This record gives sequence, C-alpha cells and structure tokens, in this order.
Amino acid sequence: MYQIIDGKKVANEIQENIRQEVNKLSQERKKIPHIAAILAGNDGASETYVNNKIKAAEKTGFQSTLIRLHEQTTEKQLIEEVEKLNQNQDIDGFIVQLPLPKHINEQKIIETIHPSKDIDGFHPINLGRMLLNLPCYVSATPYGIIELLKYYQIETTGKHCVVIGRSHIVGSPISILMAKNNPVGNATVTLCHSKTKNLKHYTLQADILICATGSPHFITAEMVKYETVVIDVGTTRIKSKESKSGHKLIGDVKFDEVAPKCSYITPVPGGVGPMTIASLLKNTLLAAKKEIYK
Ligand code: NAP
Repeated sequence: MYQIIDGKKVANEIQENIRQEVNKLSQERKKIPHIAAILAGNDGASETYVNNKIKAAEKTGFQSTLIRLHEQTTEKQLIEEVEKLNQNQDIDGFIVQLPLPKHINEQKIIETIHPSKDIDGFHPINLGRMLLNLPCYVSATPYGIIELLKYYQIETTGKHCVVIGRSHIVGSPISILMAKNNPVGNATVTLCHSKTKNLKHYTLQADILICATGSPHFITAEMVKYETVVIDVGTTRIKSKESKSGHKLIGDVKFDEVAPKCSYITPVPGGVGPMTIASLLKNTLLAAKKEIYK
C-alpha cells in the first residue's frame, strides 16, 4: 500500500514553527520579517500564486508588501522597482513573480535582484553557491522537495533518482541537490528532458522519480516500477466547473493508476505546491536573520 506524501501537512508544520519564531521576535521587540512581491501584468495563475504567498506570509506574522504593476510596464520601470526594494532596509527579501510580460527580459530582472534579498534563489550567485554547497537561498520548489524527502525519512543514498525537466527553477537544481553529498542526496541522478529518447527506459529504472514538465498526466503506470517514490511537481491549470475558483490543477502523473505501484507519492494539489510556499517563508526568515549574507 502506497503512502501519500502530505505536503499540506508538512508545510503547515513548517509555517507553525515560523509563526512561533516570529512571535518570539515580536515579544523581544525585534524586527519582524518583511517579504515583498512584485506582480507585473494580469496573468490569472500568477495572481493566485502571489496571493497565496502573501496570505501565507501574513498568517505566519510577517509583514508583507505587494507591488502591482500593469501589463505595459517597461523593463526599465520594473528594474527601478527592483532597485528600490534592493535599497529598502525594511524589506528582508522579495520575489518578482514569473512569468513576466513577454517584452521584459526575465533573466535581466533576476540578475537585478540583490542576492541577499533573492528569496526565490534564482540569482546566479545563489545558484552558484548551491552548486558549491555554500550557504545560499535554495530555490523554493527544490528546497521543498528535499524537505519532504527528509520529513518522510525516504532513503536517497545510493538510489537512482530520475528527474524529468531541466528548468533553472526546478529540474536542474533538484537534480544537483539529489546528487550532492548531503543527508538527503547521494543519489545517482539521471536528468531527462524533451529531447530524451525512450523516456520510459529511464523512468522504469527510477527508485525516485521527480517529474517537473507541465505535461499533464503524461506519466502512466507502465512507466514506473513497483515501490518507486514519485514526486509530482507539475501543475497545469485547467478550467473546471467543479471548483469554486473555476480552475483546477493537474499534475504530470496519472495519479490513480501510478499510485498503487508506488511506495510514496505526492498528490496534486497538496504535494509539492504548499512546500514551495513554506520554503519561500523559510528563506525570508533566513534573510531577516541575516544568516546567509551577514
Ligand atoms: P519549464 O521551464 O517549462 O520546463 C519544463 C521542462 O520539462 C523542460 O526542461 C522540458 O524539456 C521538459 N519537458 C516538457 N515536456 C516534456 C516531455 N513530454 N518529456 C520530457 N521532458 C519534457 O517548466 P518549470 O518551470 O520547470 O515547471 C514545470 C512544471 O512544474 C509546471 O507544470 C509548473 O507549473 C510546475 N511548477 C510547480 C511548482 C509548485 O510549487 N508545485 C513550482 C514550480 C513549477 P526541454 O528543456 O527540452 O524543453
């Protein structure tokens, strides 16, 4: 019988611990962590993600600031907003919600964020420090996956971990972390992508399968072996009459047919997603405590 990896429960526990720490800071009249987010444009999914992050931050007692910019904001105007947050002593860390409107160069914006405030961990300095196992902000989704594996005491040493997807924010960093000589790590990693030939050949070898493609339900039962640990990062947002919001999220994995073959599996929603938010809050707390960049 498979076990569900309950990301919502683990994220709630992490957020409760953060809330207690913030409470203590408040009692000691110390500075309360302050997170900011920039939302440029009016993408519905981005709006939901940012609101969820801000809501979670406020629930833990953080101060929060949401900066909304219109779709036609120029790259120069966005850079100016980022610079303002870099210089604002009261803001401990901030995110620029991606994707950005098409006329803005995302990489340029990411590189404008000061690494000490880059709580998404997307800046080349933070990614490079992660590669070298130096203190850094690990990007929130990979960080959340590592925390889930740790919480459920899932053995990773010597296991074959197959990652599908090589983005800078999920697939590539998680493949690096899984191979590192860390307590959750020491796996032998195969990184697959859209040009991989005969994907099933690799997925069938996976002891741990991490899917981060955004191709809904493309991992089927015949692609996984028995007792595999499946981490489904994919979240494709589709219209749905069943939910109040009018949308629902679909994972990369056909959960109903894959789960019976697994030892552990994350659901969508309620798996990796909530951990991404919890990890972002953890990074903000680290930023406020100046534990990474003194
Ligand atoms: P991305 O930048 O679009 O990257 C997708 C990756 O998957 C690419 O490397 C692509 O290969 C590969 N790929 C796509 N279709 C494939 C297929 N059929 N077979 C093999 N490889 C395939 O996406 P991302 O930003 O990493 O996000 C991936 C998914 O995770 C999305 O659904 C996103 O919404 C979700 N996500 C969820 C969270 C969360 O908190 N739960 C956080 C971040 C992202 P190429 O490189 O060759 O194009």
